[in-house]
Amino acid sequence: VEFFASPQIDRIAHRRTDAAWLAERLVDEATGFVPVWRGRSLVAWGQEARAVAWDARQVAACAPRVPPVLLGQEVSGRVWFALGLEPEWSPGDHLSGEENRFVDLRRIALRLSAPDAGLLAYARAMVHWHETHCFCGACGTATRTTEAGWLRTCENPACGRQHFPRTDPAVIMRITQDDRVLLARQASWPERWYSVLAGFVEPGERLQDAVRREVAEEVGLQLHEVRYAGSQPWPFPASLMLGFTARARDATICLDGEELEDARWFTREQIRQGVRDETLRLSPRSSISRWLLDAWLGTPDRPAAGNC
Ligand SMILES: [Zn+2]
Repeated sequence: VEFFASPQIDRIAHRRTDAAWLAERLVDEATGFVPVWRGRSLVAWGQEARAVAWDARQVAACAPRVPPVLLGQEVSGRVWFALGLEPEWSPGDHLSGEENRFVDLRRIALRLSAPDAGLLAYARAMVHWHETHCFCGACGTATRTTEAGWLRTCENPACGRQHFPRTDPAVIMRITQDDRVLLARQASWPERWYSVLAGFVEPGERLQDAVRREVAEEVGLQLHEVRYAGSQPWPFPASLMLGFTARARDATICLDGEELEDARWFTREQIRQGVRDETLRLSPRSSISRWLLDAWLGTPDRPAAGNC
């Protein structure tokens, strides 16, 4: 799943400890800085949206919250850093073009190119990690950034624990039974919005066990043929979505009554019709949730007989 991934960036991990090289890049006018402010990303808003990079001069004028984080290098040679801005900072005079604004990446993703969405997602994820790891989880002392933003070290000499960037695995699964797919909704979602099921992996679990547990907990279904399908970084704020497909052994849904407000089986035609007459809303095409569903919608109905 392409969106929010950044395969175009070589992460050049060997440069994270190269102080002389980093110092040069930080003042090089070709270097691009991706600002993140209050979880929002900077885009130029025209017919299409695109990521806006700052240069070293603009960075110097705005006092970032932590030193810039090295993201990596493009094939063109351009080096990228993420820049976390203080929440108290005000965009006010700093936005050069009238069309430039800080926005919620999820809301505008589909107006961006995939490489731009990937770059902004990557920067957002790294800045979020820094903002939430200012203190050591072991002893509570402040941590300090090193290795171009890829390590935070506890400043308490008796502790000295090292903290590395984190991403939280979550499973997302498309469950089918004969020629129907399971979609569900939470009460807090926008009206008529349905999606495939998802949930966080818990410590001590394999991925396929997490898929089985989540589905059993939320809708009371037992699964077979649990298969990995693909993954997507989901930095809202810090997840890695691991997509699976599986088949339900029977069709009887038993809602847990807590997380989900509703869960139902849909045929392909019911989904198409629901989208057409706007009685059904689906996740945006930028999401692995939609990718899993679209892959199923694009295949013909299986014959109802002969399945097991
Ligand atoms: Zn500590």
